[in-house]
Amino acid sequence: MNFDLIKSLEKVFWSKVDKTGDCWLWVGGVLSDGYGGFGIQYHKHHYSYRAHRISHSLAHNRPVPDNILVCHKCDNPLCVNPNHLFLGTPSDNSADMIEKGRSGKGRKKRPSSCVRGESHGLAKLTTIEVQKIRTIVSQPNRQSYEQIGQQFGINQSHVRRIAEREVWKHV
Ligand SMILES: [Zn+2]
Repeated sequence: MNFDLIKSLEKVFWSKVDKTGDCWLWVGGVLSDGYGGFGIQYHKHHYSYRAHRISHSLAHNRPVPDNILVCHKCDNPLCVNPNHLFLGTPSDNSADMIEKGRSGKGRKKRPSSCVRGESHGLAKLTTIEVQKIRTIVSQPNRQSYEQIGQQFGINQSHVRRIAEREVWKHV
């Protein structure tokens, strides 16, 4: 992490954050794994950083080492509120997952889980798509959740969870 470069772009970074809710939402680009991506073009190089890692670094005024994870208390990969982030090591994370496996409960319900996009299931969606899904669902002669899901590349249970505000509550 090029921390001096990041610090010089601190204003640009926060200009891409919606701080109106409890979770501060990254409104810039979204990486394929569901995390916010902060792309920087510098001296002909392109750097891409995870937005929540940048947020943690800026809030604590020091870079996050590559081998340390930045985890979400709020289970929202796009949240960059430093108060919702905590540091963990990969071994913490696997111990955490083993414990969750034993408990038989979903990881997402656990407040301390490290959200990882590929298991989050909503990685492909943007805030705008979530709003569109809710608009479609609210119409009187709407399509089935399955049909709606097909349009957005997600399955019907995710459509239902979005519609019932089990997920993306802040949108
Ligand atoms: Zn949050």
